[in-house]
Formats: sequence, C-alpha cells, structure tokens
Amino acid sequence: MTALELRGVSKVYGEGPTEVHALREVNLSVDAGDLVAVMGPSGSGKSTLLTIAGSLEDPTAGEVLVGGLALSGLSRNDRARLRRRSIGYVFQDFNLLAGLTAVENVALPLELDGIAAKKAQASGLAALEQLGLSDQGSRFPDQLSGGERQRVAIARAVVGDRRLLLADEPSGALDSVNGEAVMRLMRAACRRGVAGVVVTHDAQLASWADRVVFLRDGRVVDQTSPPLGPESLLQPTPSQ
Ligand code: ADP
Repeated sequence: MTALELRGVSKVYGEGPTEVHALREVNLSVDAGDLVAVMGPSGSGKSTLLTIAGSLEDPTAGEVLVGGLALSGLSRNDRARLRRRSIGYVFQDFNLLAGLTAVENVALPLELDGIAAKKAQASGLAALEQLGLSDQGSRFPDQLSGGERQRVAIARAVVGDRRLLLADEPSGALDSVNGEAVMRLMRAACRRGVAGVVVTHDAQLASWADRVVFLRDGRVVDQTSPPLGPESLLQPTPSQ
C-alpha cells in the first residue's frame, strides 16, 4: 500500500522578486514498509518536502496523499487528526520534554489525542519496549544517555498506530555510531509496516534506506533503488 504519495508537488515561497521555488513538480511514492532517504545540498528543498509530506504546510501546486487520502480534500480538523494519529515526526534535537519521564514523553501524543492516561502509558511502554528501553520508562531525559534519548524520540514517533515516520536529520547532532543506530531503528520500524522518510546529508546513513532520492534546486534529480548499503555487504552480490 502507498503510505505517502506526492503528485507534481511544487512549493513557492514569497512573491515577485523574492520568490523562491523550494520544490518543483516533485513526484514521490513511499510504500508501507519502505524507508526512503532524501539527500541534496543545503537549500535544495529537503525540509520543505518533509513539512509538506507531514501536512504541516500546503503545496502551491500538486497533491499530497497520506494513506490514500488527498490532504486537500480534508478539513482542518481531519488534517490535525491525521497528524496526531498517523504521522510521527523525529526532529533533529529530539525535542523531549525535560519535565516528563521517558514513558510520559512517548505517551504524550496519545494523551493529546484524548486517550486516557493509563491506556496511553501502556502504549508508550510498548513502544519503549520495541526500542529496548522498557527499563528506562520512569527516567527523565537528563537521566538518559544521548543514544537512549534518540530511542525515546523514535518511540514517540511510532507510538500507537502511526503509518508514516518523518525524520529531519535525526542523526545531525550525533557521532557516526549513534547515527547508524538511529537509522537501524528507523529501518526496524519500517520493517513493522511503517513508511519512513528521512532527510540526511550523510551518504553512509542514507545507505540504510531502501531508496535514496536526490534533490537539487527543488527537483528530484535522481533516485537509487536499491542502494548498496551496509546490509548488502552481507548478502550475495546481486546480478546487475
Ligand atoms: P533544505 O532542507 O534542503 O536545506 P529547504 O527546504 O529548507 O532546503 O529550503 C528550500 C528553499 O526554500 C531555500 O531556498 C529556502 O531558503 C527556502 N525556504 C524554506 N522555507 C522558507 C520559508 N518559510 N520562507 C521563505 N523561503 C523558505
């Protein structure tokens, strides 16, 4: 099933002489279970693509479909519900709330969606367990290591029944070992049926994805599928 589809998406910021074409007729389709990396130079439109895919901004032209639903056909409330229930975001600095424990951070999106605290916390714990953090649920972010904080942020992004995982340079502030760990976790989440889109500038990390989409000046200039990633080294050489 196609979890995310961008059809001819363009985005123009500003008007007249200050006009910026951040995206130009981008077509992209991500199936459930797929992890797609987006690469490109600074200013090529990577973050814009992610914000539009996450329905945080409207395209100037084109259509975005999440789980087969065209966003333009949804009311504001329905879009807000879709963002709360179906889309998980992982931000560069992870944005954990310091006053909440790990499990409270993970359960927060569910509680904000009106789910009773007990039930939300049970789902939060289940998500932490998937990421190997069941013992750390009652710790506060400053009692966790950097690597554990990333995993809490990823747990929060996949908690409940999220279908689409969007990550903007989730490894930006990390060393290469932790950066790879984030990619491995995102990949594992995708194996469980989530569709993932991750922006990264690091080719080594992008090689964890099933596909790499290259942007330049707002256009998709290349797509590789499948890349020769670290896992491919463990497999027999594919015949070309
Ligand atoms: P990247 O993530 O690849 O660095 P962005 O998507 O952030 O690229 O930006 C693409 C282009 O759109 C850049 O020229 C940037 O300056 C411009 N841009 C992004 N967001 C805005 C905005 N809110 N207002 C005006 N211009 C913007």
